Amino acid sequence: MAGGRIDLDGNVIKPMKICMIGAGGFIGSHLCEKLMNETPHTVLAVDVYSDKIKHLLEPADLPWTGRIQFHRINIKNDSRLEGLIKMADLVVNLAAICTPADYNTRPLDTIYSNFIDALPVVKYCSENGKRLIHFSTCEVYGKTIGAFLPEDSPLRQDPAYYVLKEDVSPCIFGSIEKQRWSYACAKQLIERLIYAEGAENALEFTIVRPFNWIGPRMDFIPGIDGPSEGVPRVLACFSNNLLRHEPLKLVDGGHSQRTFIYIKDAIEAVLLMIENPTRANGQIFNVGNPNNEVTVRQLAEMMTQVYSKVSGESPLETPTIDVSSKEFYGEGYDDSDKRIPDMTIINRQLGWNPKTSLWDLLESTLTYQHRTYAEAVKQAMSKTTAN
Ligand code: NAD
Ligand code: UDP
Repeated sequence: MAGGRIDLDGNVIKPMKICMIGAGGFIGSHLCEKLMNETPHTVLAVDVYSDKIKHLLEPADLPWTGRIQFHRINIKNDSRLEGLIKMADLVVNLAAICTPADYNTRPLDTIYSNFIDALPVVKYCSENGKRLIHFSTCEVYGKTIGAFLPEDSPLRQDPAYYVLKEDVSPCIFGSIEKQRWSYACAKQLIERLIYAEGAENALEFTIVRPFNWIGPRMDFIPGIDGPSEGVPRVLACFSNNLLRHEPLKLVDGGHSQRTFIYIKDAIEAVLLMIENPTRANGQIFNVGNPNNEVTVRQLAEMMTQVYSKVSGESPLETPTIDVSSKEFYGEGYDDSDKRIPDMTIINRQLGWNPKTSLWDLLESTLTYQHRTYAEAVKQAMSKTTAN
């Protein structure tokens, strides 16, 4: 386990101290787990919540005790942040508001969280000569060029019009009143700032653009471990519908396309970045699975089948219903039409490829959802009926 790790160029990897901001979230929890289980590195875990990493923090006799330390800090207003960054060899910044339901309804919080709150992190890294791995998003690409072609144009089938490439593709957002793009725009500006710190002040950075990473512990189930009126990302929305035996809601027909990647495959890529700084520094990496493309409608159909298999329950006769985006998300929603990551750069620099098929990743994730939530949902529903 610990010690004896070799990087991609055959060099011994020295144990690092990693300041991980947003460590208590979905991606952070999986990254902490991987670092504790498979490496000798130490983590200073910063977040306002710790529920998703509780199993790594206690009891006191865990094999990695002493290698992970939780700091309950809101990075908006806590002077301890700079001290923690100074103690670290590497900073990984995951902290963000990153659920689409917030982008058009809480655009100020979204912009502050994804741009303003990240500024001190970038500044402390630059001033103290610390390496930074910053989490951006595939959403910085916005819409594809192909989305603007006529419906029947044969060019829509040409990958040059839809595959998203870090060093070539433009960032195409909607108009200002489409507040959906507040998130993508804030992420784009912080990417540009980090890139400029690299160019002008020699900041060692890596930017990660996740393409729909999904798996256990993603978001929350409304009314169980999150607000009843909350709207999480699609995996948790559809899981919630399946757990409650209600139809899955397809926004604007469910025509948008996404590529989904299993969190465990994606975390392998992040570990390669952490342990191969000479190959990862100065790079922007797409991290996704181009082979797992579906429309949201197809995702709903597949999740319905997989859930039936893992729960033993028969699917509803009408498993999906259509809702308008205005009804579901409110004014100012807009959508990315299609997201296929180009993998050339991450293949070349890190030799990384995703492995898990959509069916397999849904099977393990929905098994987790069923095991974790089915009983609690049943109890919450019977309480509501009794009242
Ligand atoms: P998440 O919401 O589960 O995790 C984010 C964590 O940051 C949360 O635990 C939250 O409490 C913490 N945080 C937010 N503001 C904070 C603050 N002011 N101080 C301290 N902690 C704070 O989200 P995630 O899916 O783990 O995403 C992590 C990063 O990856 C984000 O930057 C997100 O934009 C990016 N990303 C993720 C995906 C994906 O597929 N999951 C896709 C695109 C981008
Ligand atoms: N979506 C949907 N029903 C839901 C939740 C989401 O049809 O209950 C759609 C949403 O409109 C988008 C896609 O699913 O087209 C993915 O949404 P998600 O919230 O996961 O984030 P995104 O990929 O847009 O960043």
